[in-house]
Amino acid sequence: MKNKNSSKLFEEAKKYIPGGVNSPVRAFKSVGGNPRFIKRAKGAYLIDEDNNKYVDMINSWGPMILGHAFGPIENEVKKATKSSFSFGAPTEKEVRMAKLICDLVPSVEMVRMVNSGTEATMSAIRLARAYTVKDKIIKFEGCYHGHGDAFLISAGSGALSMGHPDSPGVTQSTANDTLTAPYNNKEALSELITKNKGKIAGLILEPVVGNMGCVLPETGYLEFIREICTKEKIVLIFDEVMTGFRLALGGAQERFGVTPDLTTMGKIIGGGMPVGAYGGKKELMEMVSPSGPMYQAGTLSGNPIAMSAGLEMLKQLKNHPEIYKNLDEAGQEIAYGIKAALNELELNYTVNQIGSMYSLFFTDQTVTDYDKAKTCDTQTFGKYFNFMLEKGIYLAPSQFESLFISTRIDKKLIKKILKANFQSLYELKAQK
Ligand SMILES: *Cc1c(COP(=O)(O)O)cnc(C)c1O
Repeated sequence: MKNKNSSKLFEEAKKYIPGGVNSPVRAFKSVGGNPRFIKRAKGAYLIDEDNNKYVDMINSWGPMILGHAFGPIENEVKKATKSSFSFGAPTEKEVRMAKLICDLVPSVEMVRMVNSGTEATMSAIRLARAYTVKDKIIKFEGCYHGHGDAFLISAGSGALSMGHPDSPGVTQSTANDTLTAPYNNKEALSELITKNKGKIAGLILEPVVGNMGCVLPETGYLEFIREICTKEKIVLIFDEVMTGFRLALGGAQERFGVTPDLTTMGKIIGGGMPVGAYGGKKELMEMVSPSGPMYQAGTLSGNPIAMSAGLEMLKQLKNHPEIYKNLDEAGQEIAYGIKAALNELELNYTVNQIGSMYSLFFTDQTVTDYDKAKTCDTQTFGKYFNFMLEKGIYLAPSQFESLFISTRIDKKLIKKILKANFQSLYELKAQK
């Protein structure tokens, strides 16, 4: 497979952009090789600067659930560009967008638009702190909530230990206010809350995790979290930046029937444009400036071009509810096919899947939390990734990511993906 133009661009990029990329996970650091520079995409396919064509299983890390350059969204964006790109004053589209989000997402009575998932989560914990007049937040090991300081914390030696920063530049005092617990572990969470009784403002989690690979909440886990947060007066935040409008029209909260106090959104909500949002109970959201005292702002928030893309995306999803059933079926078919290949080749790896999210974990363990995810053989994953790439399937270049199925992955493409998967696993086995 030709890679000349991408390699050349990458060499040049590294001179002017840290690591040659504008977001770390785009680099192929953990899988080996050079990132492919993409020049265009249409439907299910990405085309790179060397004219290689790939079936896209990342979909811009989630947003392109209807595939690339989806006609109706493209049209809305084109129309909007004729009326200037930004006003810094309110527009009708923002009202339509806010109303639609409130209609679709069970927990959301009011919503504020921002420009990224990171902004949404940062604002949501500020709001939880403003509302409760408490400082500490709880997050879970392996959950990603954007690059805000408060979230770049790992658990350290144990769930009950004080958080320590994952990145230089995050201060110890910030880390001290972030408590971490292992995912899917009720006892550890109860203990952590008891130990910090009366000090916790909010608890944030991915209701289905995508950022340690795809990890599902165990039966009753989300209900348990809802209950304990209500009892302890902790603001419960579902980070649905990834799961929102993906696992159901109303997100994971609709799918699992558990309603948080606040919800953060991003990715699909912008249809590929840089958009995020946070929303929830009126009582909380009315604390946000200028209606209340908690300050939060954005020069380009609710940008008219971005709103045109996002609003059309949400309308499409709302008007075609069969999308979710079809995505569920496609997800099941792919997961089933991968498992069948593993069986046939007598490879003992793990597949997690829900709806249009799935991961193949290179471990024989059941993956229910971050410690289990870390048992994966990332070198083998790197080889698998490159075998798949050679066969025209573009996976996320990291073991610890969920893959995304778009509505453009039809029966024929599922066959192609499964065939490439079987061959790649076969080649892996032959190497051993
Ligand atoms: C992607 C993601 C974020 C961060 O969103 P950005 O738009 O990259 O800032 C936050 N939370 C979750 C669950 C995500 O998947």
